[in-house]
Amino acid sequence: MKKRDATKLIILDRDGVINQDSDAYIKSLDEWLPYPEAILAMARLSRAGYTLAIATNQSGISRGYYDLATLESMHSRLRELVSEAGGAIAHIAFCPHGPDDSCDCRKPKPGLLCQIRDALKFDSLERSWMVGDSLRDLQAGKAMGCRPVLVRTGKGRRTEAQGKELEYVEVYDDLAAFTDWLLTKG
Ligand SMILES: [Mg+2]
Ligand SMILES: [Zn+2]
Repeated sequence: MKKRDATKLIILDRDGVINQDSDAYIKSLDEWLPYPEAILAMARLSRAGYTLAIATNQSGISRGYYDLATLESMHSRLRELVSEAGGAIAHIAFCPHGPDDSCDCRKPKPGLLCQIRDALKFDSLERSWMVGDSLRDLQAGKAMGCRPVLVRTGKGRRTEAQGKELEYVEVYDDLAAFTDWLLTKG
């Protein structure tokens, strides 16, 4: 069987990349505010043949701020918006645990990425893309051999200013700018 080409897989963090982030957590569908340019960028990537997956920490579930049904409502809305723009999301992996639950999926741990690899039947994530606004996104990606991309939306400017572990990390203003680069290079 032909191996799936991981270079055509893009794993995205959610909060601060696809939608506005909030230090007070995103607890309801009303508080989930997508960046319109990010939705369009996802659709462009998808139409260009890239597979899109999402890896998102959602400790607000463990903290009792919102429930799984609420999270699912945000993700159906997200899938709907991307689909209306002509794209598709192949898989959404989320970690519902808190920092003290010692799970293996909360980023910077790579468990969500392993879930994506297995769900989408990739042998490995080597040279796929991991796009995030926080250091822990990039760390999770690096642990799996992904190429790390930092965007300056959400917590991205703060992450860039802290300047930790950013060697070999590509930095773009937002998901649309990364998409422009990826779809026009070479
Ligand atoms: Mg984020
Ligand atoms: Zn977890």
